[in-house]
Amino acid sequence: MEKRIQIIRGDITRQAVDAIVNAANCSLLGGGGVDGAIHRAAGPELLAECRTLHGCETGKAKITGGYRLPAKYVIHTPGPVWHGGGRGEEELLASCYCSCLELASENGCRTVDFPSISTGVYHFPLDKASRIAIKTISAYLAGHPEIERVRMVCFDAGTESAYLTALAELEAGL
Ligand code: ADP
Repeated sequence: MEKRIQIIRGDITRQAVDAIVNAANCSLLGGGGVDGAIHRAAGPELLAECRTLHGCETGKAKITGGYRLPAKYVIHTPGPVWHGGGRGEEELLASCYCSCLELASENGCRTVDFPSISTGVYHFPLDKASRIAIKTISAYLAGHPEIERVRMVCFDAGTESAYLTALAELEAGL
């Protein structure tokens, strides 16, 4: 059987899945990094819908259409900015993954692709972030058979290698 959690290298804007996740900021009005790439590829209709949402709190998520993207939906989640670990960053990051998957389930999505939330300009340490992501996704999938497959879409080799390590550790029961 195909594994339900997969790590791939690629550009999330090109994935034809039910939902891609956007590592957004709290305004939901676009930004740099993966957020900018998603808005550019989806077209101005995405920003127009985002304006109607009136922002989003860190760790929560909101869903929109995918417009010109091959994905049907975009799930927007503002990840935590890393301040050293004493401001609830780890719990907030886990909450991002959980909130996105709950929205995916509620909207009938079977395939969901995530970028590496918070590890770009928000500076969350990659080794910690990848373990939190894989653990949270795995725990969610165990109770939710309606989601068939979740992929981490990694933009660079270092990110891919961190998520592959985190997944291997989980599978080895470490
Ligand atoms: P954050 O503000 O949450 O840190 P960033 O967009 O700065 O978000 O970075 C999150 C991750 O997304 C980084 O690993 C970055 O390399 C990656 N990224 C940037 N563009 C894309 C893309 N088109 N597809 C997938 N990942 C991307």
